[in-house]
Amino acid sequence: MDSESSFVTKQKEIQAARQKLEEHRDFLSTLSKRVERRLITPEERDEIIAITLLRKVGSIEQAQRKALTDALTQLPNKKAFEEAYQEQINSEKLFGLLIADIDRFKVFNDTYGHLVGDNILTQVALLLKSSVREHGTNRDNQDVVAKIGKIGRIGGEEFAMLLPGVSNVEDLRNIAERIRMSICVNPLQVSSEGKEVQLPVTISIGGSIYTGENPDEFFERVDKKALYEAKREGRNKVVILMPKQTPQQEAA
Ligand code: GH3
Ligand code: MG
Ligand code: MG
Repeated sequence: MDSESSFVTKQKEIQAARQKLEEHRDFLSTLSKRVERRLITPEERDEIIAITLLRKVGSIEQAQRKALTDALTQLPNKKAFEEAYQEQINSEKLFGLLIADIDRFKVFNDTYGHLVGDNILTQVALLLKSSVREHGTNRDNQDVVAKIGKIGRIGGEEFAMLLPGVSNVEDLRNIAERIRMSICVNPLQVSSEGKEVQLPVTISIGGSIYTGENPDEFFERVDKKALYEAKREGRNKVVILMPKQTPQQEAA
């Protein structure tokens, strides 16, 4: 930010603070009168102001957290993921993107009901979250920095995963395979009409490495092309697209 725009931002902040103060003038003048009448000490007035401010900040932060969290799975929601994605793009570092979608989810919903469907979503979310956070290994058995991956629920039964530092197609494929396996290796256990049922839930995954193309087109390519191909190949599959060549690579 240049100094002029930072000056303008500061002025706006001061103006907003003045407005807020105006809104709280009654509260502040009541407190001042109580100090004048020696009903409270100045220290007590400051404490009351500090506590009121803290509560306000707390409830603002809570509302912000809520606005960015998916209520069912407690994962970051679409908005939060889009923010993380934009931040990752702005960092100008290579990264892997995976998009996973539960296979034939509608059948589970239709057969066992919406509540069981919700239970499946929650379990899948937890499993995906822990596999994105774990260490992965590449083909030379070296650690891959996938543990700091970010995940979000971007649609009904669709999850996106950002893998900063993963810049190689083979590494991304290994990580995606591990994530796919983490879901299908054991059937999920849910209870339906008082009975425990084991459900063979699987996911399909599309992915690619970002190399500087248009961010929306890249996302679309992974979501519509790679994931679609994984579905077409029969589901419970991983499809990783080759990264687009950057203009510099094409010229080389
Ligand atoms: P595919 O393998 O092609 O992905 O098939 P699918 O059945 O998983 O995909 P489809 O898009 O046909 O169905 C997705 C279903 O997910 C439809 C919708 O009712 C359900 N769904 C979306 N959000 C929720 C939710 O929060 N809870 C539950 N229980 N179901 C949801
Ligand atoms: Mg699906
Ligand atoms: Mg879907």
